[in-house]
Amino acid sequence: MLKVIKKSKYSERIEDVVRELKKSGIKVSTHLADRIAYSKDFNPLHLNRLLSHTLPALPDAVAFPDGAEDVSSILQIANSFSVPIYIFGGASGVIDGATPYCGGIALSMLSLDKIEIDAERLLVKVGAGVVGGRLEDVLNHNGFTLRHSPQSLYCSTVGGWVATKASGQFSTRYGNIEDLLVGLKVVMPDGEIVEAEPFPRKAFINPNDLFTGSEGIFGVICEATLKIRKIPEENYKMAFRFDSMDDAVENARKLVQTFRPALLRIFDRLESLKNFNVEGVVMIVMVEGEMADQERDFVLKKVNGEFIGEKPVEDWLRERFNVSDISKFVPLGIIFDTIEVSCFWKNAMEVYRKILKAIRDVDGTLLASCHASHFYEEGLCFYFTFAGVSGDLEKYYREVWKKAMETALGTASISHHHGIGALRAKWLPKELKGFYPILRDLKTIFDRRNILNPGKVIEKDCTEGI
Ligand SMILES: Cc1cc2nc3c(=O)[nH]c(=O)nc-3n(C[C@H](O)[C@H](O)[C@H](O)COP(=O)(O)OP(=O)(O)OC[C@H]3O[C@@H](n4cnc5c(N)ncnc54)[C@H](O)[C@@H]3O)c2cc1C
Repeated sequence: MLKVIKKSKYSERIEDVVRELKKSGIKVSTHLADRIAYSKDFNPLHLNRLLSHTLPALPDAVAFPDGAEDVSSILQIANSFSVPIYIFGGASGVIDGATPYCGGIALSMLSLDKIEIDAERLLVKVGAGVVGGRLEDVLNHNGFTLRHSPQSLYCSTVGGWVATKASGQFSTRYGNIEDLLVGLKVVMPDGEIVEAEPFPRKAFINPNDLFTGSEGIFGVICEATLKIRKIPEENYKMAFRFDSMDDAVENARKLVQTFRPALLRIFDRLESLKNFNVEGVVMIVMVEGEMADQERDFVLKKVNGEFIGEKPVEDWLRERFNVSDISKFVPLGIIFDTIEVSCFWKNAMEVYRKILKAIRDVDGTLLASCHASHFYEEGLCFYFTFAGVSGDLEKYYREVWKKAMETALGTASISHHHGIGALRAKWLPKELKGFYPILRDLKTIFDRRNILNPGKVIEKDCTEGI
């Protein structure tokens, strides 16, 4: 028997909505299998619940638009019936962002799948539903690369990247998704399609910034124009061992404040042992491109750790899309998740120690570890991993998040790249302070009937008690 925690508030209206959608030529399904497929994201609580046939929510229908015009029709119809729309890319989000807590319509973006390469301007125009792995394959086939490579490359979409402000494994050199983004086509909640010519730098406030990281509450991203580059021919891989995380982090600071390598990661003792079978703290570095020779010499000169060859980098590159840990833990009744924050170098080690301690102090924690994954001149991202057991897994999980977020507030940003969703929403006002009501007002102006992703980021609809 399938159990659904949050029942839809819109089931009675859905027949009329579906009839209107079909009249407008929109593909739409009310089959249970489709509704289950669009019932949740990759938040680990949902995975644990699946073992007892429990879903957090179910949309009443799933719509499959073919382009921005279809999205526009769907939003106009949803407005006229005041029915919510939950936007789904690859559903790889981990912060309970797409889950349709109010019911209504799940919007599958996967058919918006066009890819147009502009080799002269080094740009690619991509449909929001294009999955990262396919985009990278097409680019590689033409001699290009995006150099945006999240671990979820093969299960996340371009629209999802922009909506969550995603960050890839080579971000230290090439930037996060917002640094690669040149143009957007967006459908506003009332159905208006908006798009402007992309330019290297735009006049006034860059409208792309309104939607980057907006997690589907301001509009539906239908297309993105992104920077591409030629595939770098040369690369050098280097790994170093340190006695302490403090030492490795200090070395990373000195390096990136002068030059930013394509890949830089530091793994604490637990992760170094697990990933590389090395006692100590491992730093991996990769430089690439026409200046790779000089960059390698610079790194070898600048980094004051024990050089341990290139094998750890090769091992890591080979395993970098392996996401099997979670499927090993879940059937054992263990909950497993990650929490990423960003902070300045100045208090980096305080943030590292305090958040690790906060997680470890929660009863039930089996392990907590950390690596530093993305670096800037002014600071870095720490990425914590934890696993725990409890008679009440959900209570344990929420306690870990509460302790970690409360510890982060003030000294670190509560999220580096996974976003806010429903999971982190309660801590956002404390981070944004006076900007929070401005964003809440924007949501009201853009989306008068609150139909886009209600209950996420800044709204509480339908999420009480979850
Ligand atoms: C194993 C694993 C590894 C991961 N590694 C990384 C990583 O390295 N870096 C990283 O940044 N993230 C990572 N993530 C998180 C996740 O992959 C990213 O947040 C990703 O950007 C989500 O894309 P998606 O297409 O799956 O979006 P979804 O999960 O479908 O949606 C995420 C949010 O964006 C909204 N949304 C989706 N598409 C659109 C659209 N077209 N218009 C408007 N709103 C939209 C949704 O409503 C939802 O709020 C990882 C996740 C997993 C499970």
